[in-house]
Amino acid sequence: LLIAVEGIDGAGKTTLARTLAESMRGNGVPVVFSKEPTNGPWGTQLRKSASEGRLSPDEEVRLLLLDRRQHVDELVRPALEAGKVVILDRYFPSMVAYQGAHGLSASSLLLQNAFAPDPDVTLLLDVEPVVGLARIRARGDEPNLFETQENLAKCRSIFLNMKLPSRHVIDASRTPPDVQADAWKAVLVAAAD
Ligand code: C5P
Ligand code: MG
Repeated sequence: LLIAVEGIDGAGKTTLARTLAESMRGNGVPVVFSKEPTNGPWGTQLRKSASEGRLSPDEEVRLLLLDRRQHVDELVRPALEAGKVVILDRYFPSMVAYQGAHGLSASSLLLQNAFAPDPDVTLLLDVEPVVGLARIRARGDEPNLFETQENLAKCRSIFLNMKLPSRHVIDASRTPPDVQADAWKAVLVAAAD
């Protein structure tokens, strides 16, 4: 079972993904938790680009695809084949939303990810950019160069319009327990399929 947790910065992806992974582990379910961009060489370059000054969107896509190919080949596919649940804090929908917000075509970005397994369920944590930005500051971080209200609004709208099977939009302006309850429902439905 492949679960992708998606949404703009400050939506609560990391909190939700970790909570899901911990509860499943507590119930004896074998879980692999990971994130994209990864901490590998390409993912690290992408994060640097996002925080210190952007590479061109095409260059970012090139790095993200290299990062994702390695992640899928070395971690995601083997874990799925071993029958594990894989929970990802960001996956290819983030590339469609973020590099799409930089002007690339969302449909062509989706096509470039045909090699990557589709999530069985994508939990889209939906929140207004102002709320996301306030949460980033509340946890003591400074929003990076890209994380303006305007850019995050573009990402949010691409996320909401993306044609993705098994996507569940969850109102992430609520408390973590409320968000978790909705996420669990969606995961249980996907697991029963
Ligand atoms: O998920 P996380 O908060 O670690 O992402 C770090 C940053 O990387 C995001 O805030 C975003 O600005 C950037 N990013 C990006 N393109 C992606 C994924 C993330 O620019 N495809
Ligand atoms: Mg995060």
